Amino acid sequence: MVTTLHTQLDLVRDYVNTFDLETGIDTIGTPDELALWLSEQGLVDDFVEPTEQEVEDARAVREAIRELLLTNNGVEADAGAASKTLEEAGRKARLGVRFEDGRPVLEPEDDGTRGAIGRIVATVAELAPSDEWKRLKTCRDEHCRVAFYDQSRNRSRAWCSMEVCGNREKARSFRQRHAAKTA
Ligand SMILES: [Zn+2]
Repeated sequence: MVTTLHTQLDLVRDYVNTFDLETGIDTIGTPDELALWLSEQGLVDDFVEPTEQEVEDARAVREAIRELLLTNNGVEADAGAASKTLEEAGRKARLGVRFEDGRPVLEPEDDGTRGAIGRIVATVAELAPSDEWKRLKTCRDEHCRVAFYDQSRNRSRAWCSMEVCGNREKARSFRQRHAAKTA
């Protein structure tokens, strides 16, 4: 079970980062890889054998969360479609509410792969009202889109790293200004 706030934030960040846009490497791209990842995160008790459809669902949920984190970065994204994907995954996992010492927690009835994906959706649902959630973002660079936690005081960080994506953006806007001047 995913408990502390930081573990929850890390889980969501790591999940989004299972796909590296720049290299095209997807660490949950096959049933075996997904099973391994879910088990490493402690999201399943027993070893699961995901179907191809479940792999597809897991990837759709991941990309939906990436969209939501993009809106946290002030970028317009299709939050409506993303929400629908997460709602559907919640339904498939049969997410239900349970009370733990009076505190409501979402828990999947399904104990397989769908349930594990449901736990991630539940984590997003639990985090969403918190201030920390707004700090979880995806990089503004459209070729990068890495998820990161913005620790800046005024929550203004736009790129995963100033050295790479931040500089790339600076160079781009420099070129654009320069081109505008010489045009
Ligand atoms: Zn980046």
